[in-house]
Amino acid sequence: MIRVDPGAEFSFLPGQYATLGVEKDARRLERPYSIASSPYEKELEFFFELVPEGQTTPPLYDLQPGDEVLLRKVAKGRFTFDTTQPERTRHLMLSTVTGIAPFVSYARTLFKDWKEGRFAGDHSLFLLTGASRSWEFGYREELEKLASETPWLTCAFTVSRPWEDDDWKGETGRVDDLIRKYADQWGCTTANSIAYLCGHPEMVEHGKGMLKRIGFQKENLKEEVYWAPKAA
Ligand SMILES: Cc1cc2nc3c(=O)[nH]c(=O)nc-3n(C[C@H](O)[C@H](O)[C@H](O)COP(=O)(O)OP(=O)(O)OC[C@H]3O[C@@H](n4cnc5c(N)ncnc54)[C@H](O)[C@@H]3O)c2cc1C
Repeated sequence: MIRVDPGAEFSFLPGQYATLGVEKDARRLERPYSIASSPYEKELEFFFELVPEGQTTPPLYDLQPGDEVLLRKVAKGRFTFDTTQPERTRHLMLSTVTGIAPFVSYARTLFKDWKEGRFAGDHSLFLLTGASRSWEFGYREELEKLASETPWLTCAFTVSRPWEDDDWKGETGRVDDLIRKYADQWGCTTANSIAYLCGHPEMVEHGKGMLKRIGFQKENLKEEVYWAPKAA
């Protein structure tokens, strides 16, 4: 996780991404990263994982506190919290590892709005997030704490390689295999919900297929795919 001082006014909506860049061998490498912080915070927070064979994350990983990073001036993206459909007040948020970032931004923003009377709690957020092993979860403690303090946030964390994580006592399995179970448990249907999928391309693809089979369509299905799947 890194926090970046944008150095000037930087407007964005929860769920949008910024483009970070590093200079390497006289080349500028740039990649999009979802903003995990809330627009109410002064700094921008990003949550990224090292892709050892990747171009940008190794130099990003080498950054030390106080170093400079390139930041494009404008935030982009449509993976924002959708409150425009009055009959759809349940938000089913599905992610893998770093794909939780936009949901952290939603939750932090709504929490502040709720505390200060701008959000009535008339929308409910249901988050299902997965990782291979539990230590890969970035915001579990923060989100579980928020969930315990609010009536409108519910979280579930699942580990897909429990045999590599002996101490994990929670849910197991892949997010895409658990969507049906949690959608039923949380009462999320296509009539009352908007679904958001973020992160691993296969989870997004499989998850979308699952959701479409239970009636979700373009208007209540949003996705943010973090990278292209490798060609078979
Ligand atoms: C809208 C958007 C938001 C994003 N937000 C985030 C974010 O919040 N956090 C984050 O970590 N990443 C995020 N990404 C991915 C990010 O932009 C980079 O692609 C990623 O950090 C890898 O960059 P790289 O230059 O090191 O790897 P590259 O040199 O671009 O890629 C090397 C190879 O690794 C694959 N790959 C890329 N990322 C991963 C990964 N995480 N796991 C496994 N294989 C991968 C690529 O398909 C490629 O084959 C986002 C992408 C998009 C499109």
